[in-house]
Amino acid sequence: MQIAVLALQGDFAEHEKIFHSLNIPTCQLRQKSDLTKDFDALILPGGESTVQGKLLRDLDMFDALRSRIMNGLPVMATCAGTILLARQILDDTTVHLGTLGISVRRNAYGRQLSSFHTKGTFAGIKDIPMSFIRAPQIEFCLPGTEVLAEHEGRITAVRQGNQLAMTFHPELGVDCRIAEYFLKEML
Ligand code: GLN
Repeated sequence: MQIAVLALQGDFAEHEKIFHSLNIPTCQLRQKSDLTKDFDALILPGGESTVQGKLLRDLDMFDALRSRIMNGLPVMATCAGTILLARQILDDTTVHLGTLGISVRRNAYGRQLSSFHTKGTFAGIKDIPMSFIRAPQIEFCLPGTEVLAEHEGRITAVRQGNQLAMTFHPELGVDCRIAEYFLKEML
């Protein structure tokens, strides 16, 4: 088994570290030819969604990646990655991959709260460390989207079939349980 990590920008190395700690090999997707590598799942890391979206298009990786996801490739997205998957970005006409039935608002937490750390329940798994860094908010979900986590009434993680997306970063510490959930439930 091998997990591909989109490595154009953002915190892809932290995701790789988590999978390595579970003895799961990873490969990096940096250019179009990397898409021919043999991988079973995809990670879309946090970072800056506008930069990642532009690079995906400039490097001509966009269509191939989108059709792999549409065809059932398991994908786990955090923060900016969630914005890439969203079908709608509120107050913005941009849509990136648009494969996931959610509407998101970028940088939705006020200035004072723009970054914070908490613990919460994810898919029934308790005390998961969750770092929010200029996080988006998931404001609407289409039917068929399951809510897996919430923080103070705001949706923070969803799953729709082969797509798992969250607005926080589970990859910044040493807790591997969300990666384990992804491997166990979605691959
Ligand atoms: N604010 C970033 C964006 O809009 C996301 C931040 C993150 O990934 N930590 O893309």
